[in-house]
Amino acid sequence: MSASRPLPDEPTVGPLHPVTTLERERWADGDFEAMSAEDVLRWAYAEYGRKLVLTCSWQKQSSVLVHMVSELGLDVDVVELDTHLFFRESYETRERLVERYGLTLIRPEIITVAEQHRREGPNLWERDPDRCCHIRKVEPLLEALQPYDAWVSGIRRDQSPSRSGTPKVQWSERYGVWKIHPLADWDEKRVWAYITVNEIPSNPLHQAGYRSIGCIPCTRPTRLDEEERAGRWAGSDKLECGLHSEAPPPNGG
Ligand code: SF4
Repeated sequence: MSASRPLPDEPTVGPLHPVTTLERERWADGDFEAMSAEDVLRWAYAEYGRKLVLTCSWQKQSSVLVHMVSELGLDVDVVELDTHLFFRESYETRERLVERYGLTLIRPEIITVAEQHRREGPNLWERDPDRCCHIRKVEPLLEALQPYDAWVSGIRRDQSPSRSGTPKVQWSERYGVWKIHPLADWDEKRVWAYITVNEIPSNPLHQAGYRSIGCIPCTRPTRLDEEERAGRWAGSDKLECGLHSEAPPPNGG
């Protein structure tokens, strides 16, 4: 399915828990901090309907949000941000979630790893990981978000200092959409409690010490006394892939 397919004007499936008039009045003041993750999603769906999209990279937050959206009966498109460099376990997790929740994934166009080697030289992630993330993550996301007005992402404040100020709702100049972060105030324990109680398929690499999981070349396990994302681009000063940055992309791209 193409990321640029036209969207229907109205939601095709109504929420199982429709927003009441009282809630609309209460939510009108925009006090998102006081809302539960479920209510942030319900508010966003009431506001943006089929112009709301969820992105997944098959970490534990993806498991939570896919389940939550399903439980709430929200007809939200799911975009897979696949760099073609994920672990086998991440792809297996994707298949289990697709099967359980009947997901139809939207997959943005991305150049193959071989083509990237040809254009940029081998192993760009070793020489210029910002450029590599831009090609394999940011550019595909920019394309994927074109048809939408709001983007649901699973980032959380306690994942790293660089995410500690994450609001639950935020305008993104870079992508031209509202960013919705229903799990912003969840900690790692709460994520696992939700997954366990609801018996949601999750990435088995988390149990092998990979508390944060990205591409194979840039991910190592993380000790409990480290920050959750310490295993990403370990040994470099890179902290983020750039997906959640508002800074201009590298190389003007
Ligand atoms: Fe490239 Fe590493 Fe970024 Fe993946 S995480 S896109 S391999 S630099």
